[in-house]
Amino acid sequence: MTCIFCEILARRAPGSFIFEDDLCAAFMDIHPVTTGHLLVVPRRHAASLSELDPLDGERLFRVGQRCAAALRASGLPAEGVNFFLADGAAAGQDVFHVHLHVFPRFSGDGFGLRFPPGYGAFAARDELDEIASRLRDQWLNQ
Ligand code: 5GP
Ligand code: ZN
Repeated sequence: MTCIFCEILARRAPGSFIFEDDLCAAFMDIHPVTTGHLLVVPRRHAASLSELDPLDGERLFRVGQRCAAALRASGLPAEGVNFFLADGAAAGQDVFHVHLHVFPRFSGDGFGLRFPPGYGAFAARDELDEIASRLRDQWLNQ
């Protein structure tokens, strides 16, 4: 199946690039949340984080940092910057080629996260410890 981000990276589909190197590229999102919304995309196709080469992941974050700095210095409204990465359909992933969203934030921009009912209550320590223990076991299995 054709991947739109692979097509953009190969210049078979249009893209407005600000940066590219041997491992990844950054180009403008076609449906910006705020003006300046960028996508940082690894060159090697990986549908999910589990498929992503850790070296590509490291570079993705580093390029994301530089995108954030460019946005803050650009003169565009950018009092803050959000990183967002959706891994899996349930997490909101629509394009199954890993990508990091980097977009400017400013007061009144209209963007926000919606929290589930009951959010804000403190979790019980024994429950946190039990979950942490389960995750440590998985860490060792990787
Ligand atoms: P996701 O929902 O997978 O986290 O994000 C996919 C992003 O890709 C969306 O923000 C969407 O606007 C962007 N997108 C989808 N198709 C294209 C395209 O053809 N070109 C560009 N530049 N961005 C796209
Ligand atoms: Zn791809």
